[in-house]
Amino acid sequence: MSEANRSRGLAILGSTGSIGTQALKVVCRHPERLRVVALTAHRNLALLEEQARRFRPEMVGMVGEEEAAELRRRLAGTGIRVSAGKDCLLEAARHPGAETVLNAVVGSAGLPPTLAALQAGKRLALANKESMVAGGELVREALGHGGELIPVDSEHGAVFHCLRGEEMENVACIVLTASGGPFRGRSREELVSVTVEEALAHPTWSMGRKITVDSATLMNKGLEVIEAHFLFGLPYERIKVIIHPQSVIHSLVEFVDGSFAAQLSLPDMRLPICLALSYPERWGPPFRRSAVAELGSLTFEEVDREAFGCLDLAYRAGGKGGLHTAVLNAANEVAVEAFLEGRIAFLGIEEVIGATLDDFRPAPLRSLEDILRAEEWARSRAGEAVRERAGEKGTAGKRQTGGGGRR
Ligand code: NAD
Ligand code: MG
Repeated sequence: MSEANRSRGLAILGSTGSIGTQALKVVCRHPERLRVVALTAHRNLALLEEQARRFRPEMVGMVGEEEAAELRRRLAGTGIRVSAGKDCLLEAARHPGAETVLNAVVGSAGLPPTLAALQAGKRLALANKESMVAGGELVREALGHGGELIPVDSEHGAVFHCLRGEEMENVACIVLTASGGPFRGRSREELVSVTVEEALAHPTWSMGRKITVDSATLMNKGLEVIEAHFLFGLPYERIKVIIHPQSVIHSLVEFVDGSFAAQLSLPDMRLPICLALSYPERWGPPFRRSAVAELGSLTFEEVDREAFGCLDLAYRAGGKGGLHTAVLNAANEVAVEAFLEGRIAFLGIEEVIGATLDDFRPAPLRSLEDILRAEEWARSRAGEAVRERAGEKGTAGKRQTGGGGRR
């Protein structure tokens, strides 16, 4: 059988999420080329059961133990093995039948399986940017084991494809595009009282809740700057960000001769997912093709770094290196969750992250355990910062600015 006709075994971690479900649409589009061997989810029992019955993987993993027990009952007699607890992510990442592992988990829970997949020599299609931010140095080290990493994040996918056949020494800089999110053009004062509902209304992309809030604060772009640093090995001063509200240009590479290369398409994550799963081939379009005129007018503007402080926090943590980016990421996860729960205001997110970074005493980064320890500290410190802003310890008003303390 020729390489092009062979079906590739695929494990999807986080199959019930926004990226996971879109990846399964790509599988449906290319059933002769992709064969699902493992699926995992956090707690969404009904959807994982439905996916298991439809795609017939060899195993499914459910992080929630109770949900896993129920799923095992429901799938009895199907021959599909059900694995429980967070180790199911490692099992799926190392699955012998998987040539490609798509990591579409949200949050730094994705780091251990990212490392496991690369150490097992898999091709890792990486959507889970938090694993790069928390453990980029370890991920680069793990790449030495024969595995391969193809970015799924649309910006990094675009850069990856613009760099095909190019020498890194000819790259002057990478320019990541950002839609600007739902609050583009607003001043800091106008951000004081924005609501969860407004933050979740993204103008161009439909995504999971966490990344949608990250897009509203621009921390998503901050995480992506760090992700790009580790993926492409460029110093931070050569990774730039530009606002491009249409989300048609997915990112650009500027070469030393002053020319730019870019990747364009209508904004739809099935394209970067399909490109990562098909690499180095190109397959039929995962959604309809578009005429150039349909791409419309393309505009650019600078980021308002005054109003959106999270981007500078990310550059700051990236510049310091070591465990700082793991701390930044963990504090952001805590702060976003608190915002979604209505415990802190929108601008409280960057305050919580800033307070956590300020108090961090750097320690050496040698192993995954060092990262997990730093994250635990950061979660605890960020939790305290949330409680101060939410007035839960009777300290409402203390250390707040920008309307913090809203319940
Ligand atoms: P989502 O919230 O829609 O889905 C997350 C998936 O991970 C779900 O299947 C959930 O069951 C699982 N999950 C959640 N917490 C988990 C845990 N602790 N352990 C194991 N599994 C867990 O998220 P999403 O929008 O699909 O994003 C997934 C990742 O891809 C994120 O890192 C995000 O930044 C990145 N990403 C997403 C998009 C997008 O368009 N959605 C674009 C670029 C990058
Ligand atoms: Mg992105």
